[in-house]
Amino acid sequence: MFSLVSGAYRYFTRQDEYNVLMLGLDSSGKTTLLEKIKHIHTGVLGMPAENILPTVGVNISKVTMNRDLIKFMDLGGQADLRGIWEAYFEDCHAILFVIDSANGERIDEAGNVLIKLVKSEELEGLPVLILANKCDLSDAGSLVKIKEMVNGMADLLDSRDVRVMEASGVEGTRVQTAMDWLHSRIIDNRTKRPPAASDI
Ligand code: GDP
Repeated sequence: MFSLVSGAYRYFTRQDEYNVLMLGLDSSGKTTLLEKIKHIHTGVLGMPAENILPTVGVNISKVTMNRDLIKFMDLGGQADLRGIWEAYFEDCHAILFVIDSANGERIDEAGNVLIKLVKSEELEGLPVLILANKCDLSDAGSLVKIKEMVNGMADLLDSRDVRVMEASGVEGTRVQTAMDWLHSRIIDNRTKRPPAASDI
């Protein structure tokens, strides 16, 4: 009887923890998106967009999705900071790659960074969500270009869940849908990349 009660107690108090790496070029909108994600999931109003400074190092926020704790790690995207990304690969459960779809001149640069990521052995098989951010500023052509670029990586992305979606971190467009997709794919992949369990 005791083990039944303690098992039930553990079930109801246990929370699985997953790590999501938010990567992308500097100024793609990672920090703004993270503020919006926190707002949607905690109800706490995020920092106003005009007060957000470029990330140097790592900016971490935890939110609960259903019963799971998702730890978002927003890593600085400047070229000289990208070297630290690898230190976070081993414990990561999904990649959220953010592209500024309003800046056509940097889409190829973002693509090259994405290719390096998906070639990484430590990230093999992990779900990848590619957000064509700032859709409030960009035209549909940017989304098409980003989708074509990702299609061109099909052989590298073969064995994993990948989705390209447009979004706006400022307006919150499709952010909830994007997070629902990401969470569901992390759960689907949990036998390959188990959670770090943490009790409430
Ligand atoms: P990070 O360096 O990737 O963390 O980018 P930030 O979140 O600091 O955003 C860089 C700039 O883009 C800031 O001026 C933001 O206000 C702006 N920005 C971010 N997301 C959006 C968006 O969805 N729409 C618009 N219009 N601007 C955005």
